[in-house]
Amino acid sequence: MTIVMKFGGTSVADAEHIREVARIVRERLARKPVVIVSAHAGVTDQLDQIGRDAVLGHADAAPLAERHAKLLHDLGLDPSLLAPLLHEIETLLKGIELVRELSARTRDMVHSFGERLSVRTVAAHFCSVGIPAVAIDAFDAGLITDSNYGRARPLPEAEKKIYETLRNIPGVPVITGYIGKDLNGHITTLGRNGSDYSGAIFGNALNVEEIQIWTDVDGVMTADPRVVPLAQSIPEMTYEEAGELAYYGGKVLHPATIQPAVAKKIPVRVLNTKKPVSPGTLIEQRVPGDALPVTSITSRRGVAMLNVISTRMLGQSGFMARLFDEFGKREIVIDHIATSEVSVTLTTDAHSDLESIERALKEIADLEVERGKATVSIVGRGMRSHPEVVSKALLTLHQAGIAPQLITQSALRSSLSLLVEESQASAAVRALHQSFFEMAPADIPRAARAGA
Ligand code: ADP
Ligand code: ASP
Ligand code: MG
Repeated sequence: MTIVMKFGGTSVADAEHIREVARIVRERLARKPVVIVSAHAGVTDQLDQIGRDAVLGHADAAPLAERHAKLLHDLGLDPSLLAPLLHEIETLLKGIELVRELSARTRDMVHSFGERLSVRTVAAHFCSVGIPAVAIDAFDAGLITDSNYGRARPLPEAEKKIYETLRNIPGVPVITGYIGKDLNGHITTLGRNGSDYSGAIFGNALNVEEIQIWTDVDGVMTADPRVVPLAQSIPEMTYEEAGELAYYGGKVLHPATIQPAVAKKIPVRVLNTKKPVSPGTLIEQRVPGDALPVTSITSRRGVAMLNVISTRMLGQSGFMARLFDEFGKREIVIDHIATSEVSVTLTTDAHSDLESIERALKEIADLEVERGKATVSIVGRGMRSHPEVVSKALLTLHQAGIAPQLITQSALRSSLSLLVEESQASAAVRALHQSFFEMAPADIPRAARAGA
């Protein structure tokens, strides 16, 4: 019997939260928890900024050191506990200042200090309140990855290594989320928000009975509660829905989190550190009973829309292959795609190097790039038996004065995505949430009911 308990940055933001985490873990000691911890809230952003400043020659790690010193003080821990790591950061920053260069590999190293500092503090606090705990860096616990800095993935052999290493650890292991090491011994990160993914990787390797993701809200909700104050907690959802929701912007889970859990069908439970008694959300392979037409609504910003126009080539065989090949070579992921007689419209991350695609396709097509877009996605397994969701969604957006520029729904029909202007994303999510979750049937406009 083992569980993974992953605590996000907000759950270990300050001394009070860390004490609460210890209480939550203590109550579950009988289930042999393996604890995964993020950096304290905001620390990864802070490290990222310090790294950039170092390139310009003026890094200042003092505020970071002060924040950690205050945490140690507030928890009554040894003030010198983090000195070796803080010294290491100083040395690294000096190096960056000297060469005035920050490669993806060095950035991962800078970021890694957030989690490496936090596990030491959290484990020391556990020990001070009588929970036998050991701080472990994930790479010392077997998490070896490829060398894709900033978005590394575990190597197949990591599973066995993790199992072998952790099997003999006495007490509660408190392991860094977000980071690993490649085969050359360089530190890697799994992508921002990656501690959820770490939780699932360790859960899978240890074949645990449950992976718990402890955060600052009541589980996965019908929308981001920061955007929709009336968002409700979702008691149960499928891996497929959770995966779609995370992919299309639901920050509550890292998009890759579900993969390792699915492999061994391990249930994932999303819980609220501030309200441990609340049941949160259980994510499983299958959920019994009828589903509501819609499970959740989310949005993703920073999207670019690309129109590929070619009157000569489009219908010819090989054109699409060439198009995808140019994206593939640059590792640019296409999210949505729609084709017509003379053009292909697709969406991707607005930060991708789209100019180089434009150059590469010059002889065969014209490319129009429009940044500043967002996708608004409606997710739900219930949509399969509720085809009216599409018409209701479109009518709702129309009534809110929002005209989607691209509409996509796959044959699986577990999500519907609508491309809108970034400035309209929150309004679109609110309008859709109101229409699908907040209205009694009698409130629904007649036209929408006719479609429903
Ligand atoms: P952690 O520090 O625990 O990793 P994050 O800030 O990464 O927490 O993720 C939790 C946040 O995700 C919530 O505070 C909430 O604002 C946001 N969020 C976005 N979409 C959803 C959703 N559908 N359900 C719950 N939270 C969501
Ligand atoms: N600390 C990392 C981040 O802020 C990873 C995580 O919190 O999940 O992105
Ligand atoms: Mg997170």
